[in-house]
Amino acid sequence: MANYNPRKKTFIRRKICRFCADRSLKIDYKDSRTLRFFITERGKILPKRISGNCAVHQRRLTLAIKRARNIALLPYTITITK
Ligand SMILES: [Zn+2]
Repeated sequence: MANYNPRKKTFIRRKICRFCADRSLKIDYKDSRTLRFFITERGKILPKRISGNCAVHQRRLTLAIKRARNIALLPYTITITK
């Protein structure tokens, strides 16, 4: 393998894009339950280094979240009081 690094621990779990792994999982702006996995508790979109999504799906997800916000399925921000 070209990018095999023997000094890295082999059991580091590589994050995998869950939309690539599971083809049945659709990115749908109407599906706020799925989209909620990819926003923080304050309503921000998770960066792909945390969510582990690939570029294609991260872009689609971002678009879906923005649409969902527009029709008030998801919040733009959540103000946490106290
Ligand atoms: Zn993907």
